[in-house]
Amino acid sequence: MTNDRSTMALTTAEVEQLRAQFPILGRLGRDGRPIVYLDASATSQKPQRVIDAEADFYSHHNAAVNRGTHMLGDESTEAFEQARSVVAGFVNAQPQEVVWTKNATEAINLVAYAMSNASAGMGGAEAKRFAVGPGDRIVATRAEHHANLLPWQELCKRTGAEFAYLDLEPDGRIDLNTLDVITPNTKLVAFTHVSNVTGAVSPVEQVVQAAREVGALVLLDTCQSSAHMPVDVQKLGVDFAVFSSHKMLGPTGIGALWGRYELLDAMPPVLVGGSVIGHVTMEDTIYLPPPTRFEAGSQPVAQAVGWAEALRFLGEIGMDRIAAYEDQITSEMIKVISEVDGVRILGPADTTGRIGVVAFEVEGIHPHDVGQYLDSESVAVRVGHHCAIPLHTFFNVRSSNRASASVTTTLDEVHRFGEALSRVRGFFGGF
Ligand code: PLP
Repeated sequence: MTNDRSTMALTTAEVEQLRAQFPILGRLGRDGRPIVYLDASATSQKPQRVIDAEADFYSHHNAAVNRGTHMLGDESTEAFEQARSVVAGFVNAQPQEVVWTKNATEAINLVAYAMSNASAGMGGAEAKRFAVGPGDRIVATRAEHHANLLPWQELCKRTGAEFAYLDLEPDGRIDLNTLDVITPNTKLVAFTHVSNVTGAVSPVEQVVQAAREVGALVLLDTCQSSAHMPVDVQKLGVDFAVFSSHKMLGPTGIGALWGRYELLDAMPPVLVGGSVIGHVTMEDTIYLPPPTRFEAGSQPVAQAVGWAEALRFLGEIGMDRIAAYEDQITSEMIKVISEVDGVRILGPADTTGRIGVVAFEVEGIHPHDVGQYLDSESVAVRVGHHCAIPLHTFFNVRSSNRASASVTTTLDEVHRFGEALSRVRGFFGGF
């Protein structure tokens, strides 16, 4: 992203110490060498202390939360709520603004369905600010993961609102000349902080400003940023942000929606049932305040505890230092990919304003073949459309390969990847 952070970057020795805490990084791949894991964008690997935190919860504290009057119930409730505070602290939010969800996809759907419910009259007068219908507009971008696209398309279909999107520069960055799609009838702008295909960091400030000028709400998808750079929801100035534990060194099965409290407080519930109520009669229900209002049924308690441990781990390293280190890795990744003949990067080929998520196309070779060849050299990359078909269509390809780095990626690994990539075309075509 920027080079002036190099002085605070993690050192090679520090990264080696970190790597030693990830048992899976000791696994050997198909050719007997250690696996070069370049698929952190899909899911991150977990340090031992995250695995231990979940096991410790089940071994010593497990009980239903917010239920029991017994000691274990108190301990599990405390661990659960402490985890919420850790997640909140990590992004500079208040605990009561953090709603647990199954993943980031569910967090986005939660907002979309709450808007649907408000549009159908649920939640009374307070919820009217979320109602949309014919004449209103929802805006996303062409660079979205399907998780931040389909919920808005469907919301528009259900309510009659119109859907529009910010378009892209040829290298996949958001084209600020298309900000005028954020018209005065726009109710919400949803966009990704970092693209899971191009690695480009979105111009958050400009998009938020355009949304503010027309009074639209803003939702930010931080799935690809929050393990790689500091994310401060206050500084970003958005209204909602979604998080995914499994991309942040935490367990699968949990994510979170962050929302400004006054917004969450006015929003109708989506999933309803146990745990969300103040009172119920056979005719009606009074719902609890947020975040409980949005957390129906049993919750992913052990996963919350594990996620909190992952965030302590990241916090102890320092997100600034991680970002600075990953800048160096990103530069090297771009360099080694660019050096291979017949390989096109889908996204910015420079190293500013981007992170180490690099999709690429190998001329004449199907991405699955590329992925399989790399796997034969124990290099793990993603193949497919990465849940971003419109973005692939924009780049005129059906699918691609994607190498994505994390705090444990080393320069040696990047070089092994580059060497393996340089052999792909020769292997398949004798070029
Ligand atoms: N948004 C982006 C940009 C992603 O990369 C992903 C996952 O790949 C998601 C959303 C969905 O995240 P989750 O798996 O937490 O639902």
